[in-house]
Amino acid sequence: MYEIFGGLAVMPEGIRKDISLVVEKDRIIDIGPAEEMRKRYKFSDSIGSKDSIVCPAFVDTHMHSFQIATRGLTSDKSLLDWLKRYIWRWEGSMSKEQAKACAELAYLEMLKSGVTTFVDYTSVRHTDEAFKAAKAFGMRGNIGKTLMDRASPPELQESPDKALRDTESLIRKWHGEENDRLRYNITPRFGITCTDGLLEGCKELMGKYDVLFTTHASESSFEVDEDRKNYGESSIRHFEKLGLLGKKTLLAHCVWLDDSELKLLAKTKTRVAHCPGSNMMLASGAAQTGRMLKEGVAVGLGSDMGAYYNLSMFDQMRLSVMLQKVTKLNPLALDHRNAFNMATKGGADALGIESGTLEKGKKADIVLLDARNIAFSPENDIIAQIVYCAGPGAVQSVVCDGKPLIMDGKVLVANEEKILERAKGLLAFSA
Ligand SMILES: [Zn+2]
Repeated sequence: MYEIFGGLAVMPEGIRKDISLVVEKDRIIDIGPAEEMRKRYKFSDSIGSKDSIVCPAFVDTHMHSFQIATRGLTSDKSLLDWLKRYIWRWEGSMSKEQAKACAELAYLEMLKSGVTTFVDYTSVRHTDEAFKAAKAFGMRGNIGKTLMDRASPPELQESPDKALRDTESLIRKWHGEENDRLRYNITPRFGITCTDGLLEGCKELMGKYDVLFTTHASESSFEVDEDRKNYGESSIRHFEKLGLLGKKTLLAHCVWLDDSELKLLAKTKTRVAHCPGSNMMLASGAAQTGRMLKEGVAVGLGSDMGAYYNLSMFDQMRLSVMLQKVTKLNPLALDHRNAFNMATKGGADALGIESGTLEKGKKADIVLLDARNIAFSPENDIIAQIVYCAGPGAVQSVVCDGKPLIMDGKVLVANEEKILERAKGLLAFSA
């Protein structure tokens, strides 16, 4: 049993001073004023100081580790140009070693920005490499192999039989491993690239193994037009007909929803991964985030690496608020508390993980920020300053499942230099 101490802590009820979290194995077993906790418990160790701001760790509900290879090359492109000229070309040629280098680089960047939990759509191949990296890093990885059986490059398409067989064997191998830190997610790419046969097979596996289903939906107006050609309706409506909406379904983007579709997500308890950086970068549009939250939809934030170019949830928090303000022409459309909640509790709820808040009984997934960082000077409104002023440079220590992964800026679970060196050698890509 050890203590995580902060001069400040972001609790569900607001900011509190001098708080100790009592951590035993993977959970917060008690939390309260440090003086009281220190009398009540005997700690073997203590993490944090009066200069630490203790927060729930961040959750990235949507990213693609392999796309980190194209970062910097793909700016200022349309979605289809980006996908066809860069992403699919890279994906088609990527080796196992390259997939490993991508996963390690992406997970390192997330960890250093205070993210412990993520949803990673790997490519069609080499999904094992992502699981192995998440295992080695001690992070909470929700990982799946991308599925496509139509309207995509032939070298990336698979027959539904093979795609589902491989998916099932990955579920059996990884789902629930490492104290349930590793979970398998079923990840068809999106409606355009998947036949109904493949999607029906996904539903069968969801039921059989109780795993999460996640895909892209209603991201761009082009996609919605294609869906109407394919299905005669939107993919959201089509997924409903296939029985794919519900609390085990996480849909990324959901930008182009009409009112009834938004209500349908709320009614079916379908979850949403909102990716404001990607939606702005690819000019996809602005999701109705405020409305979703009002309707009670569990909304998490996603970096959508590589449609956005870094894995910092600080960026996504900031952009989620600014996008709503400017599109609604209303400075009150969304606020920093909404953004912080989506990046923590919203994401954890969307994935069905007992973390995302500093509360007794929750999993100990914690980030400590350095109160001496310039972002917190002067100290006025800590949550607003986390959202609008701070960045990965403020991250001091990171704990996942009760285990310290970064301590006082030092990454304990990976060799940073080696990862960067390997990425330089293996991930050079030109379109
Ligand atoms: Zn994506």
